[in-house]
Amino acid sequence: MKFIDEFHRSELAQGVVRQIHRNSTKKVRFMEFCGGHTVTILKHGIRQLLPPTIEMLSGPGCPVCVTDNADLDKAIALAQIPGVILATFGDMLKVPGSRSSLQKVRAEGGDVRIVYSTTDALQLARKNPEKSITFLGIGFETTAPTIAASILQAEQEDINNYYALSLHKLCPPVIKALLDSGEVRLNGFILPGHVSAIIGSQAWEFTAQDYRIPGVVSGFEPLDVLQCVDMLVSQAERGEARVEIAYRRGVRPEGNLRALELMNQVFEPCPARWRGIGEVPESGLKLRKEFEHFDAELVFAPDPGPTLEPKGCICGEILRGIKTPKDCKLFANICTPESPVGPCMVSSEGSCAAYYLYGGDYE
Ligand code: SF4
Repeated sequence: MKFIDEFHRSELAQGVVRQIHRNSTKKVRFMEFCGGHTVTILKHGIRQLLPPTIEMLSGPGCPVCVTDNADLDKAIALAQIPGVILATFGDMLKVPGSRSSLQKVRAEGGDVRIVYSTTDALQLARKNPEKSITFLGIGFETTAPTIAASILQAEQEDINNYYALSLHKLCPPVIKALLDSGEVRLNGFILPGHVSAIIGSQAWEFTAQDYRIPGVVSGFEPLDVLQCVDMLVSQAERGEARVEIAYRRGVRPEGNLRALELMNQVFEPCPARWRGIGEVPESGLKLRKEFEHFDAELVFAPDPGPTLEPKGCICGEILRGIKTPKDCKLFANICTPESPVGPCMVSSEGSCAAYYLYGGDYE
């Protein structure tokens, strides 16, 4: 299959690995921002292929994992309101909130539906005019434009029982917050391909210009990631700091202008809470004033009660890149994908789930 098979060819991968070994002399630490990259790296044993000069860290790029418990509790409280149908992507169902989860609410009679797109959620609204359909908007810049489009569609069709709980997050502000915290020393970022397809590589220029840290936008196949590491090594060896694209089949420097326009028409940036990181200015998206009547939080005012964090769970530190799942005492004994304690074990892109499934060397 074009653009898939050629990125799995082992002879090409071996060539890039040899080149990385030849070129890498300085000790460097690269962070893959995105959970999708964490999965590729662990699943294909990429860490084991790299020379000891290169250390790889996982970052906060899993939207399910970074959703703060207080926000998740809000979604759970919404699902408990009679007459509300909460439409969500399946990966949120098992994430434990302070006292419950969407899965438990559903078992107790709440109306929680798994949808695969906003089109499904809009269809639910058309079919159930007596119910209030609330779409749980969790995701980065990749998903926000589709939710914006669904709101414009609802407006156009005069659908007045469709709402969104916007818990979207914007990626560049959180990278800035991580760098400003000074907690983790980095020599390069593997930048997210999907997010960059929307915002463009230009949105990351600040890492090089303001922090002297190079970044390379990568696709999600093993060869993409290796090529990205090779490009980061080249920059590190030459003492350069630039933002480059190793995913030209998906990303342009300026991004997807139509998607950005849609997103900005419906949403505006706002402060957002990130699990383990706290409130980051301008890192969330809220509905603009003229679309406030679609805002589930304003319309239903859910009351989630006080927030409790899962005891013993170190997801927050893992998301900040200062610990790994192996540092968690609950990992693989009390906390497993069947019985997750924290979100990083629930999400298919969570570090703990990826270590559990592909880490291999954690025992
Ligand atoms: Fe949290 Fe489980 Fe990961 Fe530990 S292993 S950090 S409890 S999700």
